Amino acid sequence: MPNTHKTQVIAVANQKGGVGKSTSVFCLGAGLARKGKKVLLVDVDPQGDLTKMLGVRTPHELPVTLSSLLTDVVSQVDDSCPQTDAAILHHAEGFDFIPANRTLSAVEVNLINVMSRETVLQRLLDSVKKNYDFVLLDCRPSLGMLVINALSAADQVLIPVQADYLAAEGMTELVGTVQAIKRQINPKLKVGGIFLTMANETNFRKEIVSSVRETYGSQLPVLNAVIPATVRLAEISLADESIFLHDPKGKAAAAYEKLTKEVLANGRQKVRQTDPSL
Ligand code: ADP
Ligand code: MG
Repeated sequence: MPNTHKTQVIAVANQKGGVGKSTSVFCLGAGLARKGKKVLLVDVDPQGDLTKMLGVRTPHELPVTLSSLLTDVVSQVDDSCPQTDAAILHHAEGFDFIPANRTLSAVEVNLINVMSRETVLQRLLDSVKKNYDFVLLDCRPSLGMLVINALSAADQVLIPVQADYLAAEGMTELVGTVQAIKRQINPKLKVGGIFLTMANETNFRKEIVSSVRETYGSQLPVLNAVIPATVRLAEISLADESIFLHDPKGKAAAAYEKLTKEVLANGRQKVRQTDPSL
């Protein structure tokens, strides 16, 4: 049944690679789908890691991907909707996804010369998001034009951070980009929160979390879910299943369940703010 409420578009971003963005998009997407939500995952990374994790082993052979859709939006002369059906694939765990492959790199380069280049992805999502409760955007590790497009299309950004790097300065640049996009392109954008990934006994201490909370305050909320470092999560990229099927009783599944609930609770807060009758 199509929903009547507002879709939440969430960009999962960090310009550092290997921090757990794609893994988190997969597991959060699966977690939200398990709660009965209609979910679309969008692979916004020419590496196609998410696409591969979702079972497409050779993304470069796909005839229709995010690249084709963005190219359609750019070359559109009227307000007609791009034909998205052929690009939207369905995953066995109950959500949809738009795959990507390396042709997306060329699309990103070409965006530089396009009018309203920051909002091409947003215009694409405007035509598909009505069918979903949540759209999750898996960003490439950069602050380039594709990430700017993702942040321009998003209601909120979630930032996975490796526990070792939490105290580091690396966040300043990303937060600066978020603030610039909020000011200039997308006033509704907010930081939904950062969450720690790959945490173990040596790199994770509660005091670090408190100190980050003190330093950044409400500008950069730290979520309570902490994703543990575990080989079970590293395995899901080849197992073709999310952590909820791969190791349902393990601590990583429990952590992604917690993250899912926090994202759902954040969404509900937002609805309450905008509609006091709910
Ligand atoms: P990103 O999208 O930020 O580059 P990935 O989700 O692809 O990061 O994760 C990078 C690598 O680390 C992948 O090989 C993935 O399987 C692995 N990985 C992700 N999360 C965890 C975790 N919590 N514990 C152990 N390995 C992980
Ligand atoms: Mg990735």
